[in-house]
Amino acid sequence: YVKDNGKGSHMFYSDKIMEDIRSRAEIEDILRDALREDGLRLVYQPQINVVTGKIDEFEALLRLKDRNLSPAKFIEVAEMSGLIIEIGRWVTKEAIRQMAKWRDEGYPLKPVAINFSGKQLSDREYISFLSSTLEEYQIDSRYVEIEITESILVEETENTLAFLNELKSLGIRIAMDDFGTGYSSLNYLTFIPVDKIKLDKSLCEKFINLDNSSVMSSLIGLMHSLDLIITAEGIEETYQYHRLKEGGCDLIQGYLFSKPLASQEIEKIYNHNFIG
Ligand code: C2E
Ligand code: MG
Ligand code: MG
Ligand code: MG
Repeated sequence: YVKDNGKGSHMFYSDKIMEDIRSRAEIEDILRDALREDGLRLVYQPQINVVTGKIDEFEALLRLKDRNLSPAKFIEVAEMSGLIIEIGRWVTKEAIRQMAKWRDEGYPLKPVAINFSGKQLSDREYISFLSSTLEEYQIDSRYVEIEITESILVEETENTLAFLNELKSLGIRIAMDDFGTGYSSLNYLTFIPVDKIKLDKSLCEKFINLDNSSVMSSLIGLMHSLDLIITAEGIEETYQYHRLKEGGCDLIQGYLFSKPLASQEIEKIYNHNFIG
C-alpha cells in the first residue's frame, strides 16, 4: 500500500488511513481463515410475540469464533472483498442445518431469519443453493425468512424484483430490515413482495421518546393494511415494550427479552413465556 522511496514516505499517509487499510486486509485474512477452518458460528435472537409472550421466530446473526470482532465491521469487509458470497451460503446452510437439528430433537419448528446482503445478488445460484439445502435437510421453505434492506432496492431494481419474486414463488418469507434508517419510502411496500417490516432501533426510540404514539399506530396500521407483520428491533426497556404493544407492533426483538444466543442456550428458552 505504501510506495517506499527509502525515506519513510509512508508518513504521507495518515495513521488512520493506514490503520483502516491494515485492518481491512487483516479482517479479510481472518474471514478467509474462518471459512476454511470452521471459524464461523451463528447466534440466534428470539422475536417475541407481544400477545402470547412466546418465541415466534429467530434471527440468525453471524459471529467469528474466538474473536471479538463487530459483525458490522467484518460484514462490511466481507461485502467489499466479495467473501460475502461464500459467507452468505455458509450462513444459509448452517441456519437450515440447525433448524433440522432442533426439529429432530423434538423442538417445534420456528422460522429463522437470515440476513441477505445486496452484494449477494451477484450470486446467481443462491436461490437454487437455498432450495437444494432445504431439500437436503427436509425443511419447509415457509420456515425461512430472508432479511433485506432498502439499499437493495436502490440499484439493480429489476434484478432485485426478479430475485424477490423467485424467493416468494419458492415460499420463502421476506422481511425489510432496518426500516427507518434509509429512505423508508412506503411506496415500494406496495410493489415489492415483503411479508414483514423490522422497525429499526432508532425509529422505535423516536416513536417512543417523542411520545408520538398516534404516528406510530398510524404507520403500523397502514403496514397492517398491507398485510405486513411488524417487528420492533433493539428493545431494551419494559416501557418500550408496552408502548410498542399499544402501538400495534406484533413482535419484539431486543435485549429486554433476550440477547442473541448460541443454539444450546436457545434450547433452554425455546418454549419460554417471556411475558406471563
Ligand atoms: P441487523 O440485521 O439489524 O441485526 C440486529 C442487530 O441488533 C444485531 O447486531 C443484534 O445483536 C442487535 N441487537 C438486538 N437487540 C438489541 C438491543 O436490544 N440493543 C442493541 N443495542 N442492539 C441489539 P449484530 O449481531 O452485531 O449485527 C449487526 C449487523 O450485522 C446486523 O444488523 C446485520 O446487518 C449484519 N449481520 C449480522 N449477521 C449477518 C449475516 O449473517 N449476514 C449479513 N449479510 N449480515 C449480517
Ligand atoms: Mg437483520
Ligand atoms: Mg435491523
Ligand atoms: Mg443492520
